[in-house]
Amino acid sequence: MNGPSDKHINEGLRGSHRHRTSVARTGLLATVCLAAVVAGCAGPTHPAGEKAAPAASAAPPAADGGVARPRVAPPVLPGLARQEEETTSEAAARQETAARAVLETVHRWGLEQSPLKAPPRPATKPELRAVTGVKLRDGLPPVVYRVPTDEKVVFLTVDDGAEKDPEFNRMAEELGIPLSAFVSDYLARDNYGYFRDLHAQGVEINNHTINHLNLKIHDYNTQHDEICRQQDQLEQQIGVRPRLFRPPYGEYNDDTLRAAASCGIEGVPMWNEEAFPDHMEYRYDDQKLHPGDIILTHFRGIDIWKASMPDLLRKVVSEVTAQGFALARLDDYL
Ligand SMILES: [Zn+2]
Repeated sequence: MNGPSDKHINEGLRGSHRHRTSVARTGLLATVCLAAVVAGCAGPTHPAGEKAAPAASAAPPAADGGVARPRVAPPVLPGLARQEEETTSEAAARQETAARAVLETVHRWGLEQSPLKAPPRPATKPELRAVTGVKLRDGLPPVVYRVPTDEKVVFLTVDDGAEKDPEFNRMAEELGIPLSAFVSDYLARDNYGYFRDLHAQGVEINNHTINHLNLKIHDYNTQHDEICRQQDQLEQQIGVRPRLFRPPYGEYNDDTLRAAASCGIEGVPMWNEEAFPDHMEYRYDDQKLHPGDIILTHFRGIDIWKASMPDLLRKVVSEVTAQGFALARLDDYL
């Protein structure tokens, strides 16, 4: 097969040669881990008062970027030490198997091409200056339509909360697609468990008000109630107080931003594209994605779209990948 998918596999294989030296380390890790299990980890072999050596998987990375060693060396079983000697060809075969498994997952979800992997999260979030796509006001949370970055990354945000399709969660998780949800209480309250599950798999759950009103036609007190009660509700239901808030319909005024800031909101992401199961809508004349763009979509299903949430995700991921972009975590950048 000569599709772009093969290119991804080949890249995976080339990667395996670059990482030859890490193979011995992985072998060592497995040895240490298993040995720790045999020794009982925090079992009675440790004298009272002395802390057990941490399992290798939980040990912090060493300053030189290598794997931190346990303080007390656990016994190494002689037979297992041979795992350190995995040959290059064995490593390549293992990488190839892994690459095939990834491609099998990609095809099972109906995608032709593997999603591109986002670059490592930036060490510091991009500085928000008053550039196109960013609106700054003293003392108020920034309103961001496009995150200033040169990386070929875009962000997928999913609003409201009517459709609660576990297949969507599974697809996003299996494909490693980062998402941010903006949840409105009146749609979510019959099943916050769905959003707890999403959060447990790494999806940020953010604020989209209690009743999804057009905030800017309401007074400050109503806006404060709509935003800040949802902060409390999400903190109670999900266990994390959101940092990000999106006003319904993208409609806001100064009262909105003041009210949001008063209950802990640090950023107000908007969008430059909206995704549907069968097409994308762009605000740009060139009808293309740009680095740092925020894409809006919704928790909607067959009743409105005549298509499912996995159909929607398939469309977005295909578009994003075809234009050479990776989906990244909004929280890493904003
Ligand atoms: Zn909405």
